[in-house]
Amino acid sequence: MVTAAAVAALVTDPELPMLTLADLGILRSVEELADRVVVTITPTYSGCPALRTMRDDLAGALRAAGHPRVEVRTVLSPAWTTDWITPAGRDKLAAAGISPPGPAPHRTAGPVPLTLFPVRPPVPCPRCRHGDTEEITAFGATACRSLRRCPACREPFEHVKEI
Ligand SMILES: [Zn+2]
Repeated sequence: MVTAAAVAALVTDPELPMLTLADLGILRSVEELADRVVVTITPTYSGCPALRTMRDDLAGALRAAGHPRVEVRTVLSPAWTTDWITPAGRDKLAAAGISPPGPAPHRTAGPVPLTLFPVRPPVPCPRCRHGDTEEITAFGATACRSLRRCPACREPFEHVKEI
């Protein structure tokens, strides 16, 4: 029988199906207990509409692989950040024409300092690698993505927003 961890590692994300939940850093742990498998995930943000689908997909894949009892636990702290996307996940995004996120904004435990100027680094074009691109809309196909356009090759593309 395939290990539960190996099965869970192959489950893909409902919103970015070219990535697995493991690529995204959403899959935190898989434990095989005597009577059930416990999968712990940290969804990309609380209230993400894809959460229910992720739970169903994990439970379904594990059941099909011979693990009938599956418990999916959600851990919200520490909060998921795009920094958890693995290098392999970033490569898969770029290969699909979606620009991977840059470094996430620095989080501090105390009050958030007011920033007067945008500090987001430029987003390079995933097709021609042109150094900077413009945002068309803040929300693309899903809330986690924005739509941008490259001034060099004129191609629109999606960008996974840094959080
Ligand atoms: Zn371009």
